[in-house]
Amino acid sequence: MTPADLRIYGLIGNPVKHSLSPLMHNAAFSYLNLNAEYKLFEVKPQELRSFILTLQEKKIYGLNVTIPHKEKVMDFLDEISNEANLIGAVNTIKVADDRLEGFNTDGEGFLKHLTKELGFVPEGKTIAIIGAGGATRAISVHLAKRSPKAISIYDLDKPKAEALARHLEINFKDLEFRVSDSIEGLNIKECDLLVNATPIGMKETDPCLVDQNLLHKDMLVYDLIYNPKETKLLKTARLIGARGSNGLGMLLYQGAISFQIWTQRPAPFEIMRRALEEGVKYI
Ligand code: NAP
Repeated sequence: MTPADLRIYGLIGNPVKHSLSPLMHNAAFSYLNLNAEYKLFEVKPQELRSFILTLQEKKIYGLNVTIPHKEKVMDFLDEISNEANLIGAVNTIKVADDRLEGFNTDGEGFLKHLTKELGFVPEGKTIAIIGAGGATRAISVHLAKRSPKAISIYDLDKPKAEALARHLEINFKDLEFRVSDSIEGLNIKECDLLVNATPIGMKETDPCLVDQNLLHKDMLVYDLIYNPKETKLLKTARLIGARGSNGLGMLLYQGAISFQIWTQRPAPFEIMRRALEEGVKYI
């Protein structure tokens, strides 16, 4: 192996400096003895096109994509998976010879963590999601594929939630999608799963997103936030005896799926998990 053979992978976004992805991908490359490195690339919107169109020159073989580029980057790719098209965003790019292929592994990563590790069975279940942004687009498509009874969505920006619900209704005709005017309107007491897909809970000063008396002990509360380890919402869920999970598992699974897309090898999952758990610096 020579430095010339080095394969570069990485994350593009703005900002990217707090990303945990290098921890898990570099641990996986090193474990499998691959001459590869995962780097962070802070790319401004006006630089996106030229960055993407020169990936081969830069010896970049694969990328993850984060805010604010997940939608715009689709304009510069040769092929987009059905799933990424349905979600309307790409979080993984594979550089294949002279082609750029786009995928979305966020929703699948969430669902794998939810079903394989937390044992949640979406079929026939009632689900509430707070937030209707990019993460909700990805996870709602994957939840919808598993035929839940109903998915209710609340976002401060109601038209955004309505547009997402319409999109889901068109693509999943037999399912029920509701848009709520408020958190109370989500009827969380009747839900089996509540997902927080907003950034509320990341800051120490953030309030608890949901009142304790709206939750119940037989539900699962999944907060996509992974830092802090336990948001106020998760703490409240724990105090009433409900199960909770933060988003570190989703991060791990989406990363492992991206790794497999790039390298065509099974991801060394436990190595990646350990690298994340040992490397994360909780606030
Ligand atoms: P996003 O596109 O900005 O969407 C967040 C949505 O939540 C926005 O529509 C926002 O509305 C809405 N919102 C904000 N405060 C709210 C409130 N109090 N009540 C209701 N809605 C509210 O962000 P995203 O990419 O979907 O990410 C959402 C969260 O998931 C972030 O914390 C992100 O870090 C996390 N995430 C985790 C993973 C993982 O692997 N664990 C992956 C992706 C995302 P406005 O635009 O009007 O503010």
